[in-house]
Amino acid sequence: MSFITINNIQKAFDGQKVLKNMNLTIHKGEFITLLGPSGCGKSTLLRIAAGLVSADEGSIFIDGVDVTHVSPKERGVGMVFQSYALFPNMNVYENVAFGLKMKKIEKQQLNERVMNMIRLVGLDGKENAYPHELSGGQQQRVALARSIVVEPKVLLLDEPLSALDAQIRKNLQKLLRDIQQRLGITMILVTHDQEEAMLVSDRIFILNKGEIVQNGNPQDLYKHPATEFVARFIGSYN
Ligand code: ADP
Ligand code: MG
Repeated sequence: MSFITINNIQKAFDGQKVLKNMNLTIHKGEFITLLGPSGCGKSTLLRIAAGLVSADEGSIFIDGVDVTHVSPKERGVGMVFQSYALFPNMNVYENVAFGLKMKKIEKQQLNERVMNMIRLVGLDGKENAYPHELSGGQQQRVALARSIVVEPKVLLLDEPLSALDAQIRKNLQKLLRDIQQRLGITMILVTHDQEEAMLVSDRIFILNKGEIVQNGNPQDLYKHPATEFVARFIGSYN
């Protein structure tokens, strides 16, 4: 059964069609990647799924509920962006605990959940560090912990690793995949990095100019690209 359904989503900015007719069906616990060149509409689609941008046409269902007109907060989605957006005046612990404080969870349970999450992203011992004392990769680990600790139904990630150095990016790709599999979180990652998409995804949707060109698991796309664009983009063209 489908966990997230994106039906016929269309969006134009200033009369320019940016998303033409987006249809995606995503299963619970899937790691989905939206892959495509810059400007093809990946972020816009993700933002519409999050409720940060409204679509001109179409509907979105999450876990059986029509959330098309539901506010971002009430959709049960988490988001991680390229820029870390941590609270600079809060330490790692406080940043991760932030979302939970609103939830009226008992203190000891809150502490346990926060510490488990900090451990999960490999930051044990850094609880008291402030964002400016952390590397970019460590800051992104905090951002990840902060958005997962509240147990979102789906985690949306917009190029979260694009600003990081190659080696750190590789480590975080593995961490992301590891956490996703361990916790069974449904994730939708936006990236223009085909290697990243191939490494982490259960299924990749290839976008070009506001349209889905093909979707499939990494091996299938590599072996059976539907178009030359996909072949070139995935790297199986030669
Ligand atoms: P991607 O994330 O794939 O790089 P985007 O979804 O950010 O692509 O953008 C797709 C197209 O929509 C681009 O041409 C971009 O300039 C345009 N666009 C995105 N957001 C806005 C906006 N708020 N106002 C006007 N144009 C926008
Ligand atoms: Mg983008």
